[in-house]
Amino acid sequence: MPKHIASGLKYLAAVKLKDMGKTHQEIARELSVDRSTISHYLNGSNLSWNSIDVARTITELSPRDFLIMAQAIFDKPEQSRKIVNICQERNFEVNIEDSCIGCGLCVNACSMKAILLESLKAHADSIQCCGCQLCKDECPTNSIKILEI
Ligand code: SF4
Ligand code: SF4
Repeated sequence: MPKHIASGLKYLAAVKLKDMGKTHQEIARELSVDRSTISHYLNGSNLSWNSIDVARTITELSPRDFLIMAQAIFDKPEQSRKIVNICQERNFEVNIEDSCIGCGLCVNACSMKAILLESLKAHADSIQCCGCQLCKDECPTNSIKILEI
């Protein structure tokens, strides 16, 4: 079943990338599948509507639950990151306050690789953030604010 759900999620991602004007080749590269698979996805062949419905429901979970499900479905972290990044409908802004002590716990907590440590301070790339708030839960100084925008 996870394989079918993975295909459903890739289908949703492919449709979204197509709507963004990407070519089949670009979509295939982004999703690490071959071009003919993308053509099948976009023609709706080799996929059950049930898998697509389940995949759509997963994308509508809370950001944290969507991320956890994607990590359970895909073997490779970069794949789950990519799917969450493409299929996530919501946008977030990460603000790190001056009280940050540079412990790095948020960097380890962030599966989306949205936070880096530079000059002993955390710096976030909001574009990569899926809003899971796992970094915020780890921060000992309560320095992270995640805002939906
Ligand atoms: S909320 Fe925090 S842990 Fe989650 S993706 Fe955004 S920066 Fe990373
Ligand atoms: S967990 Fe908090 S204190 Fe530690 S680096 Fe991240 S923002 Fe700074």
